[in-house]
Amino acid sequence: MTDIKRTDTYLDAHMDESIAELGKLCAIPSVAAQNTGMDEAAELVGNMLRQRGFSVQILPTGGAPVVVAERKGKRSEKTLMFYNHYDVQPAEPLELWESPPFEATLRDGCLYARGVSDDKGHITSRLFALDAMLAQADDLPCNIKFIVEGEEEIGSVHLPAFIEKNQELLAADACVWEFGMVNHEEVPMQYVGLRGICYVELSVKTADIDIHSGLGGSIFHNAAWRLVWALNTLKDEHERIRIPGFYDAVLPPSARDIELMGALPDVVEEYQTRYGVKSFLKGLTGGVDLRVAEVFEPTCTICGLTSGYQGPGSKTVLPAQASAKVDFRLVPTQTPKQVLEQLRAHLDAEGFPEVEITFLGGGPAGRTDPDDPFIQLVVDTAKDVYGVPMQIVPMIGGSGPNYPFVTVLNQPVATAGVGHPGTQAHAPNENVRLDLYLKHAKHVVRIIEAFANA
Ligand SMILES: [Zn+2]
Repeated sequence: MTDIKRTDTYLDAHMDESIAELGKLCAIPSVAAQNTGMDEAAELVGNMLRQRGFSVQILPTGGAPVVVAERKGKRSEKTLMFYNHYDVQPAEPLELWESPPFEATLRDGCLYARGVSDDKGHITSRLFALDAMLAQADDLPCNIKFIVEGEEEIGSVHLPAFIEKNQELLAADACVWEFGMVNHEEVPMQYVGLRGICYVELSVKTADIDIHSGLGGSIFHNAAWRLVWALNTLKDEHERIRIPGFYDAVLPPSARDIELMGALPDVVEEYQTRYGVKSFLKGLTGGVDLRVAEVFEPTCTICGLTSGYQGPGSKTVLPAQASAKVDFRLVPTQTPKQVLEQLRAHLDAEGFPEVEITFLGGGPAGRTDPDDPFIQLVVDTAKDVYGVPMQIVPMIGGSGPNYPFVTVLNQPVATAGVGHPGTQAHAPNENVRLDLYLKHAKHVVRIIEAFANA
């Protein structure tokens, strides 16, 4: 058995070393969208794992390489997987950073850098937890695997196919997801499901060049109007998505899901102050109805619209081209493939065969049963570290590549991590709180130990 008190003492005493290691990883600008530093970051993560006795493979995917690592443990036959990513979001706008984004900087108990929370701090705090266990026994209580990809911030384009092809290599009994956080009351959250997404660009071209609106306004098709009319067919004024068959695959939340959503704090006031919104769709006013609608209903969101002239003053022009970015957030058991087919059929039927659909990425929703024993294990072990039990959230509105872990690899996926509400992931001044970094490492020790003993 691992002496948990001794691992805690180790972690308290060695924070500086782990933070220095995190700083080194943050110094590599591994921005997936700009394809910089990817190999270098994969190499460094691979080396960090090798130093801990892992056998490491850095494997090609057609995009950024994936790091897969394994270290056997003697006590238990079981395997625990950690999913992480070494890529980060672009640092821009640079002028809003208080310290350079790729130089990790300590201020007021927080470490600031691009990727320090999402997701490099999760990688190094987990390695830190292993250090504490290895310092005591020079052995891990169970098999540990890591899969660290480099395309999470651009939609994990190649990951599902990689997982499909490498099922044996990636076999494990359970998986700890790349992120986790405490809420504004310092309660750690357990997110057991992520919505899926189908992201498309819709584009219309009606002429080779923009035309004088006095010349063409009454006789030529206008790309902007065509696109607006096409978009107008997607959803009605009651927020019902009009694409035939769109709701057929929607699985309603279970009674247990609704019970768990009902236990979460009301968000009305927070949303009103944080975002300045005055009311909600469909007459929702708060409580469990709002929380359920927020994550258990699929969406059709116009993310952006582009056409014609939008500069100062007027320009009398008839646009030849128009385009819109649209995302559909999906719930179980919808798939991007189905939605793409339904969308094409719908636009054709509504008289818009000229609207082109470009699929920009996505994947189905993935969920783990909130009452799965592994979820319970991660929830229970948190209490000793955070002082309060984790709060289970059956589904969150965002998306991530957990679907192939849950369905192809058959692993229950639990979240745990270093994040907090002010962590500024994807934004300037991204940071981790050192106290939460340390707590996550302590939690990971407990997860591994309990998992090996279970
Ligand atoms: Zn991210």
